[in-house]
Amino acid sequence: MLDALFKPRAVAIIGASTKELSIGNVILRNLQEYGYKGEIYPINPTAPDVRGVKAYKSLEEIPGEVDLAHIIIPAKLVPQAIEDCGKKGVKAVVINSAGFSEMGEEGARLQEAFLANARKYGVRVFGPNCQGIINTDPALKAYCNFTFTYPKPGSVSVVALSGGVGALLMQGLFDLDVGMRMYASNGNACDVSISEILRYWGDDAGCNAIVLYTEGFADPKEFLDVAREVAAKKPVLAMKAGRTEQGAKAASSHTGSLAGVDIATELIFEKTGILSFGDEEEMTRAAMAFATQPIPAGNRVGIITNTGGPAVIATDVLVAAGLDVPKLSEASIARLKATQFPQAALENPIDVVATAGGPQFRAALDVLLDEEGVDSIFMNFVTAPFTDTHAVAREIAAVSELGKKPIVCNFMTDLSQERYRITMRILKEGCVPCYANPTAAARALGALARYGRLKRREIGRPETCSGVDAAKARSVVERALKAGRAVLSATDVYTIFEAYGIPVAGWKVVEDAAGAVAAADAIGYPVVVKVDAESIDHKSDMGGVAVNLADAAAVRSAASGMQGRLGASGKIRFLVQKFLPGGRELIVGASASRGLGHLVMFGLGGIYVEALKDVAFKIAPVTRVEAREMLSSIKTSALLDGLRGGKGVDREKVIDLILRVSQLLTDLPMIQEMDLNPILAFEHAVYAVDGRIRI
Ligand code: ADP
Ligand code: MG
Repeated sequence: MLDALFKPRAVAIIGASTKELSIGNVILRNLQEYGYKGEIYPINPTAPDVRGVKAYKSLEEIPGEVDLAHIIIPAKLVPQAIEDCGKKGVKAVVINSAGFSEMGEEGARLQEAFLANARKYGVRVFGPNCQGIINTDPALKAYCNFTFTYPKPGSVSVVALSGGVGALLMQGLFDLDVGMRMYASNGNACDVSISEILRYWGDDAGCNAIVLYTEGFADPKEFLDVAREVAAKKPVLAMKAGRTEQGAKAASSHTGSLAGVDIATELIFEKTGILSFGDEEEMTRAAMAFATQPIPAGNRVGIITNTGGPAVIATDVLVAAGLDVPKLSEASIARLKATQFPQAALENPIDVVATAGGPQFRAALDVLLDEEGVDSIFMNFVTAPFTDTHAVAREIAAVSELGKKPIVCNFMTDLSQERYRITMRILKEGCVPCYANPTAAARALGALARYGRLKRREIGRPETCSGVDAAKARSVVERALKAGRAVLSATDVYTIFEAYGIPVAGWKVVEDAAGAVAAADAIGYPVVVKVDAESIDHKSDMGGVAVNLADAAAVRSAASGMQGRLGASGKIRFLVQKFLPGGRELIVGASASRGLGHLVMFGLGGIYVEALKDVAFKIAPVTRVEAREMLSSIKTSALLDGLRGGKGVDREKVIDLILRVSQLLTDLPMIQEMDLNPILAFEHAVYAVDGRIRI
């Protein structure tokens, strides 16, 4: 429970300062000016009062109970301060001070020291190296933070590790006049994590939507579980930065929480139904729509406009965001004809023309509200000076308040004029999300629709594949582990594949050329001969793959050749395999992801992987729906179907293979990396013909 942190009844400020513009002073000023309803206890060894509030020399002297203490003193004094908090019965602390794990080893030791004290007394720690929290609840007004924006109460809560981004998001919402519920920026997050805050807000009835900024998670699995739970209850809008190599580096020096480009976080968002954004401004604008509007039941949007061009721009953006602008029904068109000016365009977009007033707008709005083929409403409203813009705004507001279908408004005007500010206020009071241009408004509606799709998407549960001999595969891996082998041999790999029902081409591993001929005779020609040695990764690059060998002589010569070229530096074996010409080459890969199990990858093999990086990732365990999405989400997906009379591949068998790989990874967590490259896919079958497993 984080009540002591987010709903403190009394706040102590350890390090309260009489010096204007110091953090120890600003924290107190914010509590005062924002109108905090609880008790404030400044702690200062010399001053009798701080900002007119009676100060105490120590926590001990405070007469009442303290829920939350700000700590704004030098890092080396913090462990003792936490000890004092523990003794006083303080339940949570916000450590604004810096100089801990973000500052190298000595700082990390101090962090460990104060954490040990906090655990001893059950004190929860927020931060260190952080801003703090805000709770806008009018009954509390807890501004336990040193920033400067005073948000108005509302339903959107914001969490960001980074104080700078947190403040930016808060200010962004404020500028859009969107009310905020709670705010949290927890810096090093050594104890209270984003996941825990998210869970707490998931249960907060006053919170309609959560906005989250992160650069990665210390415990991604914890976040995955919490995100799934919370995203099922309310919209979570998130942005993950550090998408580029350089960005990731900036993030790791920032909070020290992570290094390397991390695609896992985005995959967690996708898997759990969190709406991901690449742009902080777009995210706050979307939050404005989520704060008041219902989620569209489908992708079909009706557009009402009183000016032509902006409707064209909006249509493009809406369609790019996955919405449809469908034709209206005959009945709707007839109703429009009866209510609109003769110059009006009675289709979708409905152009009510610039002279339209309240009645024309309302009639068009009513048509879209009743039209079964439309799930949401997009408005372009330019304040034509010859119309009663207040009347128009009142109609739009009234429709928004019905809450029947989501509505967003591109409101094009001059806000330096009093008259239009009033028009704007009417819209805002009706909870209409207003944007200053068609693109911004269309993107916000696009986000609502994208969220609707996420909500309707049932990803299902991971399945248990039939015909799996997990014990056999496990024993192969354990034998290799015992022998200290990190890369499995061909025999190991194909034995594991077979144990999991992953279809492979007929194969045999042999010691020499004579053995290869005998194996080829047994498998049946034509065959492929490949070198099998732990030290050789890319066999064909080394001349270690000979395909389409038609007879014994060809097999003998290929194997002897490899023996001569590759066998000098150490023992090699040979894999003899059925030659399977004409398949489409696919790749399925997997890698262990820190704290999260495995990521599974799918793509077309060969140049498509290397040149286009055209692959899709999912977090294991992969469900059937997700496996299907992997096939359809790659750019070259059309190549899986027959193009120009060519034959397609058996998608269901590919999906089944991905599910088997996923189960294998879940059962054998010691696998670090795995590649099936290529998988040869045919119209009615698929076969893995090359596999690599590193444990
Ligand atoms: P490596 O990836 O180590 O170079 P592979 O076993 O993947 O070796 O073989 C290289 C290429 O040879 C494959 O990408 C595929 O084009 C072809 N090939 C390999 N095995 C077969 C096979 N059994 N049938 C048909 N083609 C194959
Ligand atoms: Mg290969």
